[in-house]
Amino acid sequence: MPLYQSQSLQIYNSLSGKKEPFEPLNEGYVGMYVCGPTVYSNVHLGNCRTFMSFDMIFRYLRHLGYKVRYVRNITDAGHLVDDAEDGEDKIAKKARLEKLEPMEVVQRYTVDFHTILEKFNFLPPSIEPTATGHIIEQIEIIKVILEKGLAYEINGSVYFDVAKFNEHHSYGKLSGRKLEDMIANTRELNAQDEKKSPQDFALWKKAEPQHIMRWPSPWGDGFPGWHLECTAMSTKYLGETFDIHGGGMDLKFPHHECEIAQAEASYGHSPVRYWMHANMLTMNGKKMAKSTGNNILPGEIFTGENSILSKAFAPSVVRFFMMQAHYTSILDLSNDALLASEKGYNRLMEAVDTLGSLETASKSDFDVTVWKQQCYDAMNDDFNTPILIAHLFEAVKHINLIKEGSEGISATDKELLKDTMEAFVFDVLGLERKGDGTDDSNMLSGVVELLIQLRMEARANKDFATSDKIRDQLAALGIQLKDGKEGTTFTVS
Ligand SMILES: [Zn+2]
Repeated sequence: MPLYQSQSLQIYNSLSGKKEPFEPLNEGYVGMYVCGPTVYSNVHLGNCRTFMSFDMIFRYLRHLGYKVRYVRNITDAGHLVDDAEDGEDKIAKKARLEKLEPMEVVQRYTVDFHTILEKFNFLPPSIEPTATGHIIEQIEIIKVILEKGLAYEINGSVYFDVAKFNEHHSYGKLSGRKLEDMIANTRELNAQDEKKSPQDFALWKKAEPQHIMRWPSPWGDGFPGWHLECTAMSTKYLGETFDIHGGGMDLKFPHHECEIAQAEASYGHSPVRYWMHANMLTMNGKKMAKSTGNNILPGEIFTGENSILSKAFAPSVVRFFMMQAHYTSILDLSNDALLASEKGYNRLMEAVDTLGSLETASKSDFDVTVWKQQCYDAMNDDFNTPILIAHLFEAVKHINLIKEGSEGISATDKELLKDTMEAFVFDVLGLERKGDGTDDSNMLSGVVELLIQLRMEARANKDFATSDKIRDQLAALGIQLKDGKEGTTFTVS
């Protein structure tokens, strides 16, 4: 019997504003779509948090025995600067500034995105489609919306008619906005603005002669509006109605609101059963933004090369830090928070490593079966990882008491404890064991420092044969020693 039949998962649905029992459309199967990155720059840590939340959700659904089709797209066209309706395509702008072909920009930052996610031990999604790979599907949807009279064409561009849509549907229901308020609060249209109303959004934009990313369409050469790709790709791979749609909180409006409008206009019904939104990551109490410099790249955490950090942190420590907050809560990153997470992570891993060698007794002083269900209850309550982690530390406490001989555990309970700990720590939270490649850089620097020390001692003893041997053999391994006033440093090539 699959686990999901005995567990009752509840999910907070952003659309209803309530926790609801999770019942997938087709028993045993889950279709999940998450808005992926716009690949015009290195992925920053705040984005990683959103994707990590959904990686954990994907992992838990799989753990429960669901067959999950997880679609996470790559936005490689159509996302304009400042999320605006006018303006330059983010990728085209980067390509212009760096004198690259747009697809070179896309390739470079897609590779960066995958490399960082792999370091964080993400599971790959089932399908990772791109906007440029689905231009035909997007054009087909525009044709349908035009036929239904809910969009209009002007000068080679097509806009979604929000007011008309709102006559029979409710635009703004996900973000809790009313069209009348939006109209009251917006500026008048610019004289050059060709839309009927500021609320209308582009389904297709005419490409000006200098616009390099362009495709032919029934309305002339142009490119799709940003919101359309997600409607095209989610329905293509998951159907007109699917179970979960996720993304960052900032995408609720206008992006997801527009997705709902496009799908309802095309198919006549709501596309998504459970809307899920992950909250943001702040740094030292402030919003992360490139413009203010209050920003950090994942790579800077792994090397410690950022002024807010006192040292480097392994990807699993950062992952553990992220999992200590509920995905719908704001999480604040700081050096102190990472140091505390590192301690917690080390304690957890030591306990997991100790588990196998614990001596068993005739009976247990700790009810492992009750504890196991508490772990599931935490995750069933809208993926409450901080509560799960609190229960894992309850087990750590008992593991240490058993190790000291102050408590006992039966052989059956020991197996159950070991299996459950490993399932939650590795499969669900996605943490990796220390020393399995996650903290290689720390270990390497420790070993090289030791060799530098031995070389100094050899030199002090005038044993130059040994000191040269250490230097040359390290060089042969690609580690260069450099002697300076402040002592010896090393670089790895
Ligand atoms: Zn999207």
